Amino acid sequence: MKVFSLICACCGAAVEVEESANLYKCSYCGAQQVVEHSGDVISLKKIETLLDDVKVGANRAASGLALQRLLNDIAIIEKSRDQELAQLKAADDQNNSAVGWFFIIGVTASIIMFGWWSIPVIGAGVALTWKWIPSVAQKIRSTESKAIAKIAPLKEQIARHQVIVDAYDMGAKSSD
Ligand SMILES: [Zn+2]
Repeated sequence: MKVFSLICACCGAAVEVEESANLYKCSYCGAQQVVEHSGDVISLKKIETLLDDVKVGANRAASGLALQRLLNDIAIIEKSRDQELAQLKAADDQNNSAVGWFFIIGVTASIIMFGWWSIPVIGAGVALTWKWIPSVAQKIRSTESKAIAKIAPLKEQIARHQVIVDAYDMGAKSSD
């Protein structure tokens, strides 16, 4: 049976602990402690410390999962926003080419029919068709701002969970 010389986590006394032990009771101060096996390194830890680590570790795991879920939710929102924008832009292109043809045909027909009087007729035509174009631009803006409004609270949650994950990972690194 291999025996390790360790330091009691409570009183600091040099103690001898069997390799296979999971719990150790200090022969000097009597404190029950956990024998932590981390690879080849064996150390004694206060039970309270370990419980805290477990709690923080559970929080880290929960936050890690929350981060994955939130990032996934954002990706879904962005995907549906992009699909909506693509549809709106395709509709806008169709509108614009319809307006273009309408304009060319309208101008030609007006000049043929009204001569110089075609100028106010074309003006009225442009004023009427103008209403089509901003409606699409407005829909695009509203789609974008709706997505931003949905994503903003998720980003706040991500920031909070990221703090927990970073704090734990930093702690884990510094205790190595
Ligand atoms: Zn002790």
